[in-house]
Amino acid sequence: MSNCVSILGSTGSIGRQSLEVIAACGMKVAALTANSNVKLLEEQARRFQPKLAVLMDDQAAADLKIRLADTCVQVAGGPEGLLAAASLPQADTVITAVVGMVGLRPTLTAIREGKRIGLANKETLVCAGSLVLEEARDYGAQIIPVDSEHSALFQCLEGNRDRGEVKRLILTCSGGPFYGKTAAELKEMTREDALQHPNWSMGAKITVDSATLMNKGLEVIEAMHLYHMPPEKISVIIHRESIIHSLVEYCDNAMIAQLGAPDMRLPIQYALTWPKRMPGPAKELDLWNCGPLTFGTPDLNTFHCLELALQAARTGGTAGAVLNGANEAAVAQFLAGEIGFLDIGERVDRAMAQIPVVQNPGLEDILAADRAAREAIG
Ligand code: NAD
Ligand code: MG
Repeated sequence: MSNCVSILGSTGSIGRQSLEVIAACGMKVAALTANSNVKLLEEQARRFQPKLAVLMDDQAAADLKIRLADTCVQVAGGPEGLLAAASLPQADTVITAVVGMVGLRPTLTAIREGKRIGLANKETLVCAGSLVLEEARDYGAQIIPVDSEHSALFQCLEGNRDRGEVKRLILTCSGGPFYGKTAAELKEMTREDALQHPNWSMGAKITVDSATLMNKGLEVIEAMHLYHMPPEKISVIIHRESIIHSLVEYCDNAMIAQLGAPDMRLPIQYALTWPKRMPGPAKELDLWNCGPLTFGTPDLNTFHCLELALQAARTGGTAGAVLNGANEAAVAQFLAGEIGFLDIGERVDRAMAQIPVVQNPGLEDILAADRAAREAIG
């Protein structure tokens, strides 16, 4: 169980909910980091009194230093600050809640310090899963997933002693805001349409990923690495209600599922309290009034991004880094109003076709694949 936690990305959706859990469970905070939100980071630092507060933006960090001059909180800026936050000795646990590949180096740093990782930043595993898991083994660092599906799988796998008994992992997928739409309809979807998720309130990038279903594809790759499963043993099922968070099917055809209200505070809390459970702020599931639970097959033709991610999962090597880098760049263009909704998948497809894959990559190969993918998107 965690006592003292550092949060990378504390001003975001996962970061803010992590602080709610930490406050409710009476844990301490060692470091808080954000990109540029000075006002919220100041508020959080005054309330939680961390040793260190970091803003990536140097100008914003200088501003924060002045604002926190009357406190004992140290302030740092830039990528070095982020690494300092990841390795602060006071913390036993680091929650990685930054968005994107920028989380890779700080995650590796925290692993090398032997910290428990509450892993929300899925892009890190998609780009460099083998490397991250290998380092975690070498340094004895526990990686506990925060992503709701992976937390569900983690819970459904507890008590399982022989991975050979697992027939497959089944990831549930809400289908996102555009479920049931045709390609012609998707073409017209705007940034505002894509940012309306039916069940979850999340940061902008993951909300767009949930609309394209790229998010589910990234999650297949994330599960592959976390649970050492080949892609053919991971299936995706549409479950509009987001009540069952994922399932494990065993070789005797038993299926173990984890259910709960759609509330990220539960998987966040379990990553911090594991192997214990305790009462917390997550909503209770009213199973008697939640209505019917439905299941369906994802439409891989219309939601091409999911198909592309499954392809990257089968290819392995740097294919995940290319997929992710291209997707991050294309989603940023979509959010800036520069490209249409369907252009995201088309651009990722083009980048994947163009960039050669390196098998058994080291960190430099992964970073090079990420750069090449972003350049290909333009
Ligand atoms: P968000 O956009 O709400 O927050 C991102 C955080 O990262 C903010 O604190 C921001 O300041 C910081 N940040 C952004 N860019 C940065 C940069 N270049 N350098 C340093 N810090 C930076 O995102 P979120 O929804 O909280 O998602 C965070 C991660 O968790 C993502 O990887 C996402 O896929 C994953 N995740 C989120 C949810 C969810 O419900 N929100 C669920 C599962 C997984
Ligand atoms: Mg998820």
